[in-house]
Amino acid sequence: MGHGWEGVVLKLLRGKDFKFTVTRTDEVTEHYRRIHVTDGGMLALTGVHPTMWVRLWFDDAGKPHQRAYTLVDPDPETGTFTLEFALHDGAASEWARKAAPGDTIEATVQGTGFETPDPAPARLFVVADPASLPAVKSLLGALPKTPATIWFETQHATDGDLDRLGLRLDAGLHDVRTVERRTSGGHLVQEVKAALPDLLGDPEDAYVWITCDTTTTRALASYVRKELSVPRHRVHALGYWRS
Ligand SMILES: Cc1cc2nc3c(=O)[nH]c(=O)nc-3n(C[C@H](O)[C@H](O)[C@H](O)COP(=O)(O)OP(=O)(O)OC[C@H]3O[C@@H](n4cnc5c(N)ncnc54)[C@H](O)[C@@H]3O)c2cc1C
Repeated sequence: MGHGWEGVVLKLLRGKDFKFTVTRTDEVTEHYRRIHVTDGGMLALTGVHPTMWVRLWFDDAGKPHQRAYTLVDPDPETGTFTLEFALHDGAASEWARKAAPGDTIEATVQGTGFETPDPAPARLFVVADPASLPAVKSLLGALPKTPATIWFETQHATDGDLDRLGLRLDAGLHDVRTVERRTSGGHLVQEVKAALPDLLGDPEDAYVWITCDTTTTRALASYVRKELSVPRHRVHALGYWRS
């Protein structure tokens, strides 16, 4: 057995540092569930940054199943935050559907980070979906005065009810365009490509945030960098799930 492999295993074992305990759950819609937790001392140690996420360890028929989830309204003083689950197939969604007060889940903090765009962007362009809605909430909260155009991909009718899903919008600043998921994200790519060139302005002044399924994210990230010449450091692109 090589050291590399052992190293990875040890790191994973050591990394399972925190245990969150469910205190309350809210069924926001049939496809979106909010789970309030206490943090097992995490926030006091790690601090908080915008769009912060953790790796949660779910059980998948006896095997560990690790998936990333974003902290909503983290409060280091009380050691609490909320997790929001877009529900679909999968062990993470299954856990969230059944979660009840007193349930616990282990977490690793690894890989999360955030750099406030500097200089401040003239406009923010966001392409997201229910899985990255918690991150978008945090991003808009971190840049509260920046105008933003948001393309939001929906899979269910209730996904478009952003008020109910808790996205705090400012009518004077935020332009939201809901786009139905069709052709595995191809429709969203088309919609963004049709509108973004006219909205973009100086690519150096923009900040583009893309967090959809991995294929859609890759296609759009390549488009904005190569065809619209948005500099690499002004684009944040991370695939949030695999279709
Ligand atoms: C940094 C980061 C932060 C994230 N934060 C959140 C968050 O706060 N809330 C949240 O809900 N998700 C979040 N995600 C996405 C989440 O980690 C994935 O959706 C994950 O795949 C869910 O695991 P699962 O066990 O439920 O399903 P998996 O076992 O991964 O997949 C099972 C099936 O469900 C499908 N599937 C997986 N995710 C989705 C989806 N989002 N929509 C539709 N179908 C899907 C897959 O294609 C597969 O067919 C985040 C991802 C990243 C990278």
